[in-house]
Amino acid sequence: MAYDDQNIFAKILRGEIPCTKVYEDDKTLAFMDIMPQADGHTLVIPKEPAETLMDLSADSAAYTINIVQKVGSAIKKALGAEGIVLMQLNGSKAGQTVPHIHFHLIPSSIHELGKH
Ligand code: 5GP
Repeated sequence: MAYDDQNIFAKILRGEIPCTKVYEDDKTLAFMDIMPQADGHTLVIPKEPAETLMDLSADSAAYTINIVQKVGSAIKKALGAEGIVLMQLNGSKAGQTVPHIHFHLIPSSIHELGKH
């Protein structure tokens, strides 16, 4: 499917909608999720326009995973998180609601997970 450049993350990337930035470089942006599933819930997105992981170039996928690692380490250190859930949904049938590929980093502990 064609990339919809009116999606909310495309607008965030263009600076049309504000976000709380955690990290940014020329290829990626990390920002706080507006409806966090846990304190520190962060989203990492590539700047390349792509709806799902399968639409993303291999170079951007590899680069973005590297940033996911770096941001994950920083969150773990900053929040003292016992663990981090990495979630990445592809397609509305998989539960994806924003059609610009994104990685969820959700600080968690085994005790919190047990409550769900
Ligand atoms: P998905 O269900 O597509 O994997 O996740 C989309 C995520 O984007 C959700 O966790 C939702 O809370 C978050 N989100 C939706 N709109 C906005 C927004 O305008 N700003 C931010 N920071 N996050 C958003």
